[in-house]
Amino acid sequence: MKEFHFHRASSVADAVAAVKGASAGKFLAGGQSLLPVLKLEMAEPSDLVSISRIKELRGVCVDGNKLLIGAVTTHAEVAASSEVKKHIPGLAALAEHIGDAQVRNRGTIGGSVAHADPAADYPAALVALGATIKTDRRAIAAEDFFTGLFETALEPDELVVAVHFPIPEKSAYAKFASHASKYALCGVMVSKTGSDVRVAVTGAGQKVFRVPEMEKALAARFEPSALDGISISADDLLSDGQASAEYRAHLVTVMAKRAVAAA
Ligand SMILES: Cc1cc2nc3c(=O)[nH]c(=O)nc-3n(C[C@H](O)[C@H](O)[C@H](O)COP(=O)(O)OP(=O)(O)OC[C@H]3O[C@@H](n4cnc5c(N)ncnc54)[C@H](O)[C@@H]3O)c2cc1C
Repeated sequence: MKEFHFHRASSVADAVAAVKGASAGKFLAGGQSLLPVLKLEMAEPSDLVSISRIKELRGVCVDGNKLLIGAVTTHAEVAASSEVKKHIPGLAALAEHIGDAQVRNRGTIGGSVAHADPAADYPAALVALGATIKTDRRAIAAEDFFTGLFETALEPDELVVAVHFPIPEKSAYAKFASHASKYALCGVMVSKTGSDVRVAVTGAGQKVFRVPEMEKALAARFEPSALDGISISADDLLSDGQASAEYRAHLVTVMAKRAVAAA
């Protein structure tokens, strides 16, 4: 690992100024994705700016029909939150099955969405629930936020401050996890609010994506059997030592049915 300067920010303004002022600054949240990247020397920041103790970035609250989760709220805190369990139980269950206990106690929702790992769980929830990512300077719809493999709409010095989730009538997440890492080989989040049904898939492609054919079928009849005979093409899906593109395509329908049943 190369040397870097370490800063501990005490406010959002302080954190953004520190990254802006550095030649190659990076925010550090839980470190669960960034530290392995640094150890492998795949990134060489001049400065790391820790945001984990900024109070205004932590916590869960309800505002009208929205659930607001601060960026440095850990996966364990989301999983244990009574507000999340009450209003979006599928999101609490998703957080409960991220990685292992250490990852859940250190890793944060903001770090996960900013890292945009194609196999991460939260992106499916953000897109299926129509979430908005609040940064220090703007609001970005989840569908516009995830732009590619490990790529987002964030500027290099832009800080994710919170994620705002509209509260759905029903939602659930089903994942087929890698036995080793618990990352999703395929994870599907479904949500329903009135006639608006969304199906978002993570782990199978270069980035999270929706499945309009499934959404249409489920809007007509929100039951697993509504997805009988609907499958997605394996073209453009990920293929690796853990699962072929064809297997991932098969998993999308299986996980979507399980998520609908759970919702
Ligand atoms: C063994 C293992 C298993 C895992 N399993 C899973 C899994 O099953 N499912 C899953 O979804 N994830 C999994 N993860 C990833 C985990 O969820 C990480 O916590 C998450 O990807 C990154 O969050 P972090 O807070 O640790 O971010 P960090 O590692 O601190 O940062 C990651 C990146 O995001 C940037 N960043 C962090 N916070 C912000 C912010 N607020 N604004 C802007 N940029 C920011 C950093 O600069 C860095 O580029 C696993 C990780 C490990 C090590």
